[in-house]
Amino acid sequence: MNSKEVEQALKQLASETEEAKKSDFFKDYLNIMSRFWDYSPYNQLLIYLQMPSALRVAGFYKWKQLGRNVMKGSKAIRILAPAKSRKIKEDKEEKITYFRPVSVFDISQTEGKPLPDIDIEAEGQTEGIIENLLHFCQEQNFNVTFEELREGLHGYTSNNSIAINKNKSNNTQISALLHEIAHALLHKNSSLSKEQKEIQAEAVAYVAARHFNIETKSFNYLALHDANHDKIMENLKVITETARLILKGINAH
Ligand SMILES: [Zn+2]
Repeated sequence: MNSKEVEQALKQLASETEEAKKSDFFKDYLNIMSRFWDYSPYNQLLIYLQMPSALRVAGFYKWKQLGRNVMKGSKAIRILAPAKSRKIKEDKEEKITYFRPVSVFDISQTEGKPLPDIDIEAEGQTEGIIENLLHFCQEQNFNVTFEELREGLHGYTSNNSIAINKNKSNNTQISALLHEIAHALLHKNSSLSKEQKEIQAEAVAYVAARHFNIETKSFNYLALHDANHDKIMENLKVITETARLILKGINAH
């Protein structure tokens, strides 16, 4: 795959991403997702400790607004919400912020109207690619494991360890592995924003997967990370180099 072909592929990805963002479905999705709280890292930890499998969490009334009911007997997840109160001290009124426990519930504890979901799966399977990628990872000292991960998570990287969701289709695993390899190659000590890291990793996965004739839903993933044409094309050089490094590494020139 030469640089021209990579550039061509990226232009295609950039316009697919722009299209995805324009769709009504995507606008609805963002609108609904914005109703879930943006939890602080501390609360994310509290949620994780009480329910490691939690995927989408909201309070009782928020779920009601979304057309779903919390099922009877569900055990609440307790987090801390800031609240304000007033105190009279030496004739002066003081406003103080304190934290009070509030109850939230995971989507698995609710029933009712399905939430919209953005499709980022790649269907089908392609023989022999995973094996070659694993060989490449070995050469790079990346340790890859296939694990039980939550539904929406295809994989993650920490340092030189890559985990891939073992319950996904073969082609989804290939594109997830490509994505995580790109993170491991590019972002170990990187100060780039999360958004930019995701753009680079997913675009590398898209370009390489395309080389194997695997159709990914990278445009949806990139739209979720607020990518657009310029943000994708800005990264042309690093994406080209990384995709070619991987393809060369597995002997698919
Ligand atoms: Zn990523």
